[in-house]
This record gives sequence, structure tokens and C-alpha cells, in this order.
Amino acid sequence: MTQFDTRSVHAGRDDLTALGVHVPPIDLSTTYPLPSVDTGGTSYDALAEGRGPDGGSLVYQRLWNPTVARFEDALAELEHCDGAVAFGSGMAALTASLLAAVAAGRPHVVAVRPLYGGSDHLLSTGLLGTTVTWVAATDVGSAVRADTGLVIVETPANPTVDLVDISAVVRQAGDVPVLVDNTFATPVLQQPARHGASLVLHSATKYLGGHGDVMGGVVAARVEWVGRLRQIRAVTGGLLHPLAAYELHRGLQTLPVRVRAQQATAIKVADWLSAQPAVERVYYPGLSDAQGLIGRQQAGPGAVLAFTLADGYPAAVRVASSLRLITHAVSLGGVDTLIQHPAAVTHRLVAPEAKPPEGLLRLSLGLEDPEDLTSDLQQAFSQVLRPVG
Ligand code: PLP
Repeated sequence: MTQFDTRSVHAGRDDLTALGVHVPPIDLSTTYPLPSVDTGGTSYDALAEGRGPDGGSLVYQRLWNPTVARFEDALAELEHCDGAVAFGSGMAALTASLLAAVAAGRPHVVAVRPLYGGSDHLLSTGLLGTTVTWVAATDVGSAVRADTGLVIVETPANPTVDLVDISAVVRQAGDVPVLVDNTFATPVLQQPARHGASLVLHSATKYLGGHGDVMGGVVAARVEWVGRLRQIRAVTGGLLHPLAAYELHRGLQTLPVRVRAQQATAIKVADWLSAQPAVERVYYPGLSDAQGLIGRQQAGPGAVLAFTLADGYPAAVRVASSLRLITHAVSLGGVDTLIQHPAAVTHRLVAPEAKPPEGLLRLSLGLEDPEDLTSDLQQAFSQVLRPVG
């Protein structure tokens, strides 16, 4: 087996030379010729039940698309999973995972906060027929019940980049599948399936695409879950568009170099922030990792950090709007640095007791020169620093 970086470049492309092409063909067909009524029917069953193509017809794009399947194969390989199922967004991927638990008659979810605000909201509202028990990562075992269908954690978590010990959660969960949202770490830094996670979810919109121009979601999983999720995707229609799949597949080729370069910048910027009088606290696993998970579970601290301003909310508002190079915008994981105020925007709908601090800003480091980023932060901080004396 070749190394991770090599697989990032070649995964899902091993047949290209035999096809006589250098990049994957894009198949935009919404429908496919049916050789006969009978084979059309059996192919339909195989695809709709999540068993994959049976050599007959691909029938209809909502059931199967070869360009999407290439991206899924590549991501599954990088995540050390049997397969993957791609969706139109990270939220569609989470929705399908929750619907699978509901369909199995186990609608109770145990979840560890923080989670991305949209995920927190979806669980808190019970919109999909789930109920949720929020617990600390060390209390998962005591919250699991006979009707628990999923345990959900994010590590590093959005927005405070808290780390969760995946193996410890899996041990507590027993036979209940654990879903790990691996959006922040990416398979470059962490492969949750190797620590026992049954489902590995990505907002592919972030690092996998990496350029802020494609939206998608994906769940990598063991074979039985792949079938269930394909079935739900076929019925509910939350599929990924083949053009988006092409971009995401291409994004995987540069993922390792982007993530490592962005992480190197995050380490420098985190150190710099720690020394700034305007800053109250920096949240970054590269600065403190009490559980010793960096190295053991996650290869490095990642490229997202958060920090609070000593002067709280008004200072955070001022800094966010004073930056010139860094863009004030939601999302993360792209080649350019973004900053945003989670309590006001991405985590707006989270219950008051679980909201991020009012003075907290989340920073996703891009590929710019770190000194240009710290200069921009410096000029923004100079606007909020109180005069001495
Ligand atoms: N998971 C995490 C950790 C996220 O940060 C996000 C979005 O910010 C999502 C899931 C949802 O993904 P999407 O926006 O692609 O629906």
C-alpha cells in the first residue's frame, strides 16, 4: 500500500490510464438507457437498496453517478473505511445519518457539545424525529439507552477546537455506532475509523474542496452503513452534483499540502496571539492538549483556532470589522483566512447555556504568509486597545 500523500493524488483514479485519459471524465447524465424492462428493474432495486451497480443500467442520477462514486471511493480510501456516500452539503450528510438511526427504530442520540451550530440546532429541535441527550465526553456510557441509535462527536469541535478521545467514546458507546465529524482535522491529521468510529462525516465544503467554491458533504463508513445511507439518499434526494464531486475529488489531491501548510501558519499565529495584550485566551490544541491526543489520535493541531478578546463582545465586533486582508465571513478550511463571530452567526441558534463566549472569534488560517496575517490582526487590535494610564 502506498503512502497517504500518494493515495491522495491517485485514489479514485487507478483506471484512468486504462481509459486513455489523464483526469476523470465527468458524467452529467440524469438518466441512463435501460437494456430491457427486467434488467432496468433489477438494477433499480440494487441501486435503491444501496447495493451499488449490478452491471445492468445506472438507471437515474439520484440512484448512482460514476463521477460522484469516484470521489466517494477516494475519500473512503483516505479514511480507511469500506465506502462513502456523498451529499449536497454537510447538513444533508448529517440528516441522512440521523434518518438511518430513526429508520432502524433507534431515534435517541447521545451527543457531545460543542458541535457546529447547525448540527446542534438540528439535534436540539428534533426536526427529524430524533431526541438528544447532551453529555460530556466522559459521560457517554451513562447516557446510552436501548433506543440509542447514534453517538455524535466533533473533534476538533466547532468553534472552540476542543478535542474528544474517540477510542474512549467508542468504548463507552458499546454496540451503538459512533459518528465523528472529522471536518476540522481531515483524514490528513486524523482517521476516526482507526479509533473505532463507525461513521466519519465531513462538511466537504471546507478543507476537502479547499477553495470556497464547492458545497458538499460525505459520510465514510463500514459497508452496512454505506448501504443504508445510499438507500436514504436515493429516497430523499440529498445527492451531490457530479460537477461538485469532480471539484471535491480534485481537492483531495492537494489536501495534505494545504492542511499541513495551513497548520504551520496556525501554529505561528496561535503563538503570536498568545502574546497579545488585547487577547484574553487562545483556544488551540497546539497550545494545550491536556488529554495528550495530539500525536496519539490527531497528527497535528490543525489550522483552525479561536480566541477571546480581553474587552469582550464590543472588541470582537470591532476586530472582525477592522480586518483588511482577513475576510470576515463564515465557513473555513479554504486557501484564504476567514474570521467570524460564532455566537452571533454560525452558533446563533444554539441554546444559551451552550453558546460560545460573546467575546470569541473563530479564525480559519489559509495559505497567506503568516506575517501578513499577524500584521492585519495587529492593526485591528490597535483599534481596540485601551490607552495605557
Ligand atoms: N460540520 C461542521 C464541523 C461544520 O463546520 C459545518 C459547517 O460549517 C457542517 C458540519 C455543515 O456543513 P455544510 O455547511 O456543508 O452543510
